[in-house]
This record gives sequence, structure tokens and C-alpha cells, in this order.
Amino acid sequence: MKMQIKTQQKSEKLEKIKVARHRSNLRSGSLTNATSRFGSSNGHDNHDATGIKAYAALSATASLGPFAIRRRDVGLHDVQIEILYCGVCHSDLHQARNEWFMTVYPCVPGHEIVGRVTGVGSEVKKFNEGDLVGVGCMVDSCRTCSSCQAGLEQYCEHDPVQTYNSEDKHLGGVTYGGYSKSIVVDEAFVLRVSDKLNLAAVAPLLCAGITTYSPLRRWKVGKGQKVGIVGLGGLGHMAVKFARSFGAHVVLFTTSPEKGADAIRLGAHEVVVSKDQGEMNKHLNSFDFILDAVSAEHDINAYLNLLKVEGTLTLVGLPQKPLGIAAFNLIGHRRQFAGSMIGGIAETQEMLDYCADHGIVSDVELISIEQVNEAYEQMLKGQVKYRFVIDMESL
Ligand code: NAP
Ligand code: ZN
Ligand code: ZN
Repeated sequence: MKMQIKTQQKSEKLEKIKVARHRSNLRSGSLTNATSRFGSSNGHDNHDATGIKAYAALSATASLGPFAIRRRDVGLHDVQIEILYCGVCHSDLHQARNEWFMTVYPCVPGHEIVGRVTGVGSEVKKFNEGDLVGVGCMVDSCRTCSSCQAGLEQYCEHDPVQTYNSEDKHLGGVTYGGYSKSIVVDEAFVLRVSDKLNLAAVAPLLCAGITTYSPLRRWKVGKGQKVGIVGLGGLGHMAVKFARSFGAHVVLFTTSPEKGADAIRLGAHEVVVSKDQGEMNKHLNSFDFILDAVSAEHDINAYLNLLKVEGTLTLVGLPQKPLGIAAFNLIGHRRQFAGSMIGGIAETQEMLDYCADHGIVSDVELISIEQVNEAYEQMLKGQVKYRFVIDMESL
């Protein structure tokens, strides 16, 4: 319920931004976004035809295409980053197509950013020009509420500023994400990236990595535990790698039998095709923890039934429609059903350092920016191994 209210409040806030932006367009005599896509309009608050190259969706039904944006000047605490790689998260698709009903257009997605520092403000302490850095799903938060103080900026009581589609307090309008040439971010929300790892394969750690690392740590997944991962996509394949690395017995649930061999290669001990009821029944009441990373509607009860007494099922997937939970599946074994959203900045750094120490990266398919629309379609069909990453040189 709280989540519903929060989503509603957020959508009202973004609606206000939409209206303000529309009014500003009216004032400047530019009514349509359609002409701006290829850089010919000046109708947007932080859109600049001569500005920084980006890729944007102009409506829920339009393909993404070239779009020019403005980035703020480098402030005292800011880091300016040339974006080298940006992962393609399923959330980008949900947002570009307004599946969560709160997208403000034009929308420049992208929150799995790896790049190189090209400039720093005079007060910046942690970074120098030339450093390799990452930016994930947040670029700011209030920094004073109890969540922020506890290092849980993702649960900021005043809402974190998301990398894209949040209110942009510097330029007006909304924030624009990583499908672009560069970005300016306060150093408090910039992460250090090791040069030991393949940079393209590091990019997905900034969302898929932390979103799975954080709940696996929070629920203390480790040796002696039986852990289920549902869905072998961008998040799911990282969850398999982490759960295995933390020492758990890992079972991967998939709707795609052809992914079985990959799942074992990625670290799963067992693979269960979830459509096979007989196979599912073999695991009834046996799991300590299950992480559900599915992007679409599915039967959550089938997984609750697999938890042992007091086991926990944590949702990280964000399907558009509500999931129906049968009460008996929860109360019968005093089971717990939870959710988790990305991770705080300190924990994201911890995860990146853990990956550098343990040689963990994402399995990626490198694409050019022109291929991003096709990549979305492939992702919907589950045909990605296991994360598309855009080579920003192609933009
Ligand atoms: P993805 O790469 O598209 O993977 C999703 C996987 O879900 C697919 O590979 C598929 O795995 C499974 N799946 C898809 N449709 C299904 C269906 N109808 N029934 C059952 N399984 C289905 O997506 P992703 O980038 O990993 O993101 C997954 C979800 O997490 C998205 O909803 C995304 O928005 C959300 N997300 C949440 C957070 C957070 O902070 N909580 C952060 C990032 C993303 P199999 O082929 O193996 O079945
Ligand atoms: Zn994401
Ligand atoms: Zn806060």
C-alpha cells in the first residue's frame, strides 16, 4: 500500500514536471517533441540542439533515436564523466515504454554507466581526471534522512534522484541517463571502478550487480544454504554468480530449457525448468532463500511453496501487474515475502571491490547504439546472453 501511495506521489510529481515542460514548450513556441528527436528543436528545458549526443524515447510507442541534451556545468563537488559503456537494463525498457506509468518524455534511459573522468570540481576529493568510474541508478538523495544516514540512499525518505526520469534540480525537467556521451554527477554518487576487469562487462554491475548482491548479503546467503534464483536474465545471471561465490547451493529456475547449460557454467548446481510441475514438486519446502528476478507476470505462489519454514522469498523483478499471493502459502510455514531495490552507494562500492577481488563480471553482448531498439525486442524474448551493453563510441 505504502508503495502504491509512493508510486502515485511520484507520478503526480512527474506529472507536474510534464506540465511545466509543456508550458515551457508553449512559451518557446515549440509544441512537438517529434522534430526534436533528430536535434532540430529547442523546445526542452535541458535540451540543446548543439549539445551532447544522446538516445531518447519521445513517447511510449516510439523507438529510441538520436537526441541532443544539455549537461550542467561542473560544480564544486561534481565529476564530469565521458561515458564509455552503458548496460541495457529491463528497467530501461519498462521506463521507455511507460510500463510503470510515470515516464516523462523525452526519456534518455541508462543507469549502468562506466566511463572516464574528464573534469572535476575544485572541492572534489575522491576523483581525478582520467580515473575509471561508474554511475548506477541514483545521482543524488537528500543525504540527511535516516535512510540516507544509514547508507540506504535508495530508500531515501524524500526519494533518491534517479539517474534518469527524476526531477533534475539543476537544469529543470527530468534527469537524463547513460545512453549519452557524458554525464555530470556529484562525487558522492560516483563509484570507483577497477582497471583489472573488462570495462564493458563491469557496466551491468552498476544495476544488475548491486540489485542482486544487496539482497543476497542482507539475507546472509552463504555456506549450508539452499538458494533459488528465478529467471536467467541480466539480474538472474549475476545472482547465480554471487550466490555461488558466497558458498550457497544454487538452484536456477527458468522458463527457457535451452539456458540450462549456461546456468551451470555460470555457477548453478541445479537447473529446474519451472513449467515442469514434477521437477518443481521435488523442491517443495526446501529453500532457505529465493530471489525472484522475473520481469513479467508469473505465479509467485509456485515459489513460495518451495520455501522451508521461515524461508524468505525476495522480489527484485518489477512486473507491470500486481502479483497475487495465496495467503495459505505464506502463513503455513511462517514464510516471508520481501522486496529489495538496488543498493546504497557504500554497498555498491563494496560490491564493485568484491567483483574486482573475485574476478566477477557480467556476461555481455556488446552492441552499437543503433541496435538498442532491436536489443529491447530480443530482451523481451529472453534472447540475451546475458546483458546487452552499448559501446558509446558508436553514438
Ligand atoms: P531480463 O534480462 O529481461 O531478464 C528477465 C528474465 O525473466 C528473463 O530472462 C526470463 O528468464 C524471465 N522471464 C521473462 N518473462 C517471463 C515470464 N513471462 N514468465 C516467467 N519468467 C519470465 O531483465 P532484467 O534486466 O534482469 O530485470 C528483471 C526485472 O528486474 C525487471 O522487471 C527490472 O525492471 C527489474 N529490476 C529491478 C531492480 C530493483 O532494484 N529491484 C533493479 C533492476 C531491474 P528465463 O528465460 O530464465 O525464464
Ligand atoms: Zn536497472
Ligand atoms: Zn534521504
